[in-house]
Amino acid sequence: MGGRKTRPYNNRVKGTDMSIEIVSVSKNFGQFAALDNVSLTVPSGELVALLGPSGSGKTTLLRIIAGLETPDGGKILFNGEEATDRHVRERQVGFVFQHYALFRHMTVFDNVAFGLTVKPRKERPGKAGIRDKVHELLRLIQLENLADRYPSQLSGGQRQRVALARALAVEPQVLLLDEPFGALDAKVRVELRRWLRRLHDEIHVTSVFVTHDQEEALEVADRIVVMNGGRIEQEGTPGEVYDRPATPFVFNFLGNVNLFHGRVHNGLARLGGMELASPEHAATTDSPAVGYVRSHDIEVERLPSDSSAVAAEVRHVHTVGPLVRVELLLSESGETVEAELSRDVADRLRLKTGETVFARPRKLKVFAGDYQI
Ligand code: ATP
Repeated sequence: MGGRKTRPYNNRVKGTDMSIEIVSVSKNFGQFAALDNVSLTVPSGELVALLGPSGSGKTTLLRIIAGLETPDGGKILFNGEEATDRHVRERQVGFVFQHYALFRHMTVFDNVAFGLTVKPRKERPGKAGIRDKVHELLRLIQLENLADRYPSQLSGGQRQRVALARALAVEPQVLLLDEPFGALDAKVRVELRRWLRRLHDEIHVTSVFVTHDQEEALEVADRIVVMNGGRIEQEGTPGEVYDRPATPFVFNFLGNVNLFHGRVHNGLARLGGMELASPEHAATTDSPAVGYVRSHDIEVERLPSDSSAVAAEVRHVHTVGPLVRVELLLSESGETVEAELSRDVADRLRLKTGETVFARPRKLKVFAGDYQI
């Protein structure tokens, strides 16, 4: 990918400035609030992932940006101009869906050319112009040698790349992708998301990407918007939402997490039998609290190295490729936690089911209050 041949497309799209602003948007279906006062800015040229569980409102928000759904309240601005009432055709958006039905009776070439051939006569490029454009796109999606194939002769991943080229052919101002790799198997998914990232680095079209797969969002997006129950829980770069989750929900949704229940008082937390400083709660007096620790942030020790290490019984040891997952039963609280160790560390420890060891969180985030997630 890259190289000079894709430059003309690159230049044209790069020249387009297109930010999206969503201001206090609400959407109800009957009594049900699918979106509740959502505000969000998608900066021009960025790839933003809407991430959240099923039913959190991701697709509804995407459809409102597209103009396929009308909000009950709030507004949408495209590049600072009100676009809430603009028809879907005037918004110049390109779509890629999970099951983007390519035209089965058309070749790859004709599928990609389709959007150009149906343009009004005065906007439509000539035959040679269309041919050049389609070949340029096929180079971009690395399928130039398959131009004459029919969709049934392509793999799922190749079909989605054609769907993307078809969406890009009309040079949309905004690209909207709804679980575009959802129907593909795990390995192809990973390949395609890396490919999409590289493609986006090249064409920089403002893009919004819906996914419920946290790994996909973390790997692909410039920014992640974590949604829950029709609201935005947190928004930030992948590093920000992963390393500094603002709420228990975000912590839980982005990766394997263990919960240590207890209380916090004047900056000291007692959780699951351990005692540790919690300076961010210096002003909290005797409140219920939950400590959140990712599995790879739990160390397993033969001897406790400080007061944050708690005795635990080894319940199971599972080796999963390069990792070893150890299920531990905390002796004092009776809570079960999972530690994720590298093979090297596990080999050194030689853990056996039934023996007592010590679990020590390397990094723990305390949320005060009664949290249910
Ligand atoms: P998924 O990952 O399952 O697609 P999502 O986060 O994209 O979920 P939405 O499709 O936006 O969620 O749906 C949000 C909520 O709104 C869901 O509870 C859904 O049932 C409801 N909903 C969506 N469209 C409609 C509709 N046309 N009529 C009634 N309820 C709807």
